[in-house]
This record gives sequence, C-alpha cells and structure tokens, in this order.
Amino acid sequence: MKTKITRRYFLGTSLAAGAAALASPADAAGSPKLRIATFRFDVTPPVGHPLCGGWITPMADCDDALEAIGFVVLGAGKPIVICAVDWTGILNDAHVAWRTVLAEAAGTTPDRVAVQCVHQHDAPFVCLHAEKLIAEQQTGLRVVEVEFFRTCLDRARDAVKKAIPAARTLTHIAQGEGKVIEVAGNRRVALGPDGKVRKMRGSGCRDAELIALPEGLIDPMLKTVAFYDGADKVAACHYYATHPMSQYGKGHVSSDFVGLARKRRQKDEPGCTHIYFTGCAGNVAAGKYNDGSPEARVRLTQRIYDGIVASEKSLVRAPVGAVSWKTHEILPPTNPVFVAEKLREMVANNANVAANRIRPAMTLGWMQRLENRTPIILSALHLGEIALLHLPAECFVEYQIRAQQLAGARFVATAAYGDGGPWYIPVKEEYPKGGYEVSVANCSDEVDGILTRGMRELLG
Ligand SMILES: [Zn+2]
Repeated sequence: MKTKITRRYFLGTSLAAGAAALASPADAAGSPKLRIATFRFDVTPPVGHPLCGGWITPMADCDDALEAIGFVVLGAGKPIVICAVDWTGILNDAHVAWRTVLAEAAGTTPDRVAVQCVHQHDAPFVCLHAEKLIAEQQTGLRVVEVEFFRTCLDRARDAVKKAIPAARTLTHIAQGEGKVIEVAGNRRVALGPDGKVRKMRGSGCRDAELIALPEGLIDPMLKTVAFYDGADKVAACHYYATHPMSQYGKGHVSSDFVGLARKRRQKDEPGCTHIYFTGCAGNVAAGKYNDGSPEARVRLTQRIYDGIVASEKSLVRAPVGAVSWKTHEILPPTNPVFVAEKLREMVANNANVAANRIRPAMTLGWMQRLENRTPIILSALHLGEIALLHLPAECFVEYQIRAQQLAGARFVATAAYGDGGPWYIPVKEEYPKGGYEVSVANCSDEVDGILTRGMRELLG
C-alpha cells in the first residue's frame, strides 16, 4: 500500500461496503435461499521477495505455488467471506486491508470476513507498520514488497467478483473427523526442575532426547466441514492444529506438507474446492516425527492426506440448518516486558541480526494498533449444530480444546492464524514457564481471559 491504511480508511470503506451490501442481489430479492461461491487465487511472491518477514533467505524459486482459497456464503444476511491464505501471517493494518478488499468485492462489511493464514514459513509474513519502520533504516532489509501485497489484494477482489455469479445453491452440510497419526507433538515438553521450558521441540528436530519425549498435549483430530449443492460436494474445509513446516529457510517457496496434502486431495476431486486451515498450533509442531529431510516432507504429506481422507469418510450429509454469523471484538493489552523505546533501539541497531530488528518492529506495529484502538475480530459461522470458529494469531492448542468444551455437544472446527498482530497467544498458566513462544508474545497474560470470554460469547 502506498497510502497507509488508516482506521478512517477502514471505517470509510466499511460504510461504503455496507451501502453496497444493501443493494446486493441476495438482499434485493429478499430470498432466504442460501448459496455458496468458492474462489482461489495465486499469492506466490516474486523472486527476491522476503520470506517469513525478512529474516530467512528470500524467495529463490517456487517448489509449489502459494494460494488463497475461500468461499462466500450468500443469503444469510449480508454476505460472509472466509479465506485461507498460504502465508506465514497477516498482521494489523494488513489484515484489515485484506478483510476490507474481500468485503468490498462480496458486497459486505469487513466484520463479516475471516482471513486465516496457514502459517508456512517459506512464505510472506506481512506487517505494513514494521515494513515502514524497517525501510526507514535504509539498510536494505525488507519485511514485504508493498507492490506485491497490493497485487494480491487486486487478485482477491477479482477472484471474489468472478466467483459470486457462479455461486451454487447451498442445500446440505456435513461434518467429519479423522485421526492424524504421527505428525503433531507439543513443542514445550522439555521442562527443567524449575518447571520452565528448557528447550523447544520445533518443526524439524534431530535431538534424540526431544524426539523421545511424548507427544504431549495436542488435538489429534483433523476435522472437516463440507458444503453441498444437492449431492454435489462444492467445498470441503479441513482443520488441523500443527505448525505446517517440514523444512524451510533456503528460499524454496512451498505450501509445505499440509498444502501438498490439500493439493493432492484437490486433484482427486476437481469439482470440489478443498481448503485447509491451521488450528491453534502455537505450541504444536512436527519435530517429533520430522528430521527436516525431503523424505520427511513426503511422509508428513501422506499422513495429513490420510487424515483428510479418513475425515471425509465419516461425512454424513444433512440439510443445512439455520445460518448465522457472530463476532466479538477484543483488544488485549501489550505484554509489559515490551517497552517502545527499547524496541526502537533494537530496530535501529545495525549490530542486530535481521530477526532482532524486524520482530521488535512488528511489536511496535502491535503497540501502534492498540493506540489506534483497532480491535481484533473473533468470529463464528454457525450452521445448525456446526460452528466454524476464527481466532487470531498463534493461539496455543489449549484454546481450541476449550472452544470445543464451551460448545458442548455441538461440532466446532477452529481456524487460528487470523489477524497475526499478537504473535503467540499462550494460555495464562504457560507464561511463568517462559520459553520462546512466551518471550515473543505481544499480549500480556490477560489475553487468556479476554479471548476465552470472547469464545464463550461466540459459542455459548
Ligand atoms: Zn509459528
């Protein structure tokens, strides 16, 4: 964005989008008939583009394309848009920009749009405020190429506008789940005698002690929610909670094992749009079962694919029930360990490695957002007894387990990695244990209560 996206811009366009929605064909016809339109577009960055926010090797070549895939639900009030993006993260103003463009294209308001990243690391990681702060340093470091970012928004607008006239009737829905074997493990299982996290079991791991430790707390189930026009499966959304990286950092852009599994399933069923969402995976990764080799990527792809197939086998089609969209705004306070002046010093310090300049710039982006009072929007799409829950950033897996408990017997599929501004979102009791995730969590431990109250409101 050459023009910075301000809150005024956001509100201005929201109002414009609201006005457009009143004139949309669905509302004009006053028809209760539900429809669903699917869309997809390419979000692969150009050669040389920063990956993971600029602290790993930039884009050198493309192993397989990054995509944004989503759907629009029409006929349940103003349109509802849900989109999964093969990027590391979309933070703060950049997230508002994505939701605003998708809303305008669909004729709705940005609060009726959920944009969730899949969180691959050989992929763009976008904070426009951090990009501005880093560019000011004139060191050649980059977070994101703003022109490319804007191109992706143009593609988003075009894809949604093209999709809506081809919408299918939405008559049935189904839920399913399948167990994923030997992919996920908790990252925080190596505790010292003081109860603190001693070392992290990350995405790729060759440390025999860490590999031998148990999986720890994960959610082993891959969940699917599928949408039908009569007997035709139009879209299938798959949800699983793990960091999605088998290997990264050498500039080879890839949708990685979860994206490769999705693409394989897409080839099986070209008539259905398959979408993969990463659940609450802040403290979950594949390290127990992944040595980072090319063979390991193949194995992990197969295991996620098997999970998808198992989940889809359990789908039972039923008429779609009442459809509603609920939102809840939160603005959790900043972690008191972060002091703006110190962060600015880190950004300016030429002796710091890229990560230790860009990460503080992103934390300053979070602080700026709090000053602007731009809320994070939690949302849930309710379809009869099924709920699709959309959470921000890198929530710990405890949150999606809690969401299921809050919903009782109803079926909840949780996508995290929405607005990435908060970075990691640990549960309250994990803060005293320290470790990497807690050290880079932009919110204080009050976020737990705030987020949980929001989930209760959406699901209770
Ligand atoms: Zn992560």
